[in-house]
Amino acid sequence: MTTAPAPDQLRLLDVQALDTRAQQLAHQRRVHPAHERATELASRLADLEAAYVTSKTAVSDLRREVAKAEADVEQVRTRAARDQARLASAAVSAKDAQALTHEIAALARRQSDLEEIELEVMERLEAHETTLAEVGKARDEVLAQQEEAAGILERALATLDEELAQVAAEREQVAHGLDAGLLALYDRLRAQLGGSGAAALRGRRCEGCRLDLNPSDVEKIKAAPPEQVVRCEECGRILVRGADGRSAAS
Ligand SMILES: [Zn+2]
Repeated sequence: MTTAPAPDQLRLLDVQALDTRAQQLAHQRRVHPAHERATELASRLADLEAAYVTSKTAVSDLRREVAKAEADVEQVRTRAARDQARLASAAVSAKDAQALTHEIAALARRQSDLEEIELEVMERLEAHETTLAEVGKARDEVLAQQEEAAGILERALATLDEELAQVAAEREQVAHGLDAGLLALYDRLRAQLGGSGAAALRGRRCEGCRLDLNPSDVEKIKAAPPEQVVRCEECGRILVRGADGRSAAS
């Protein structure tokens, strides 16, 4: 049978209240909405980064295609100009003149086709450049939102950590000098029972499991020596007597 001075048993309820508070703060720290926001933004950023790379590749490919189309047009234009110059010279024979005229006409058709291709590629390039700019802007916006969210999370966690440190300091103070056997039993039960190892007996009710004990058990508990450490028959927690005048543990 465990025994501990009655005032120590009562003080254990204060330790329990602080441990419960610390547990709540740790939970708030874990499930803070800013975590979810950070995950959501990271996922959106990853999508936008991928789209940006795709768009940038398309733009650089199309820029090369435009340069190639321009060179093709230029080549045909040069050839036609050379033919025109030869045709205009006095030295050209009638037979050559006919051939040149023929070729010039063919080159004009070719140039027109190539210019059409060039125009089409330029239009596609323009569309992709617009997309690239839009994706880049969206990415910058998400980056800014991410920075803001990180700041919010950091401040929220710092506030919670500060409160946790206060609670830990207070717990140390309250638990200081408490009966070692009682504290060890409490810590063991707390680990087993979801963070709650001690509870007040209020009337017939155990504040730990919130069940009413049967009257004969309550009589036995109340009749037991004050230093005897009593456990709840239902949940196994340390049942602290004499807490009726105290406010309920949060
Ligand atoms: Zn109980």
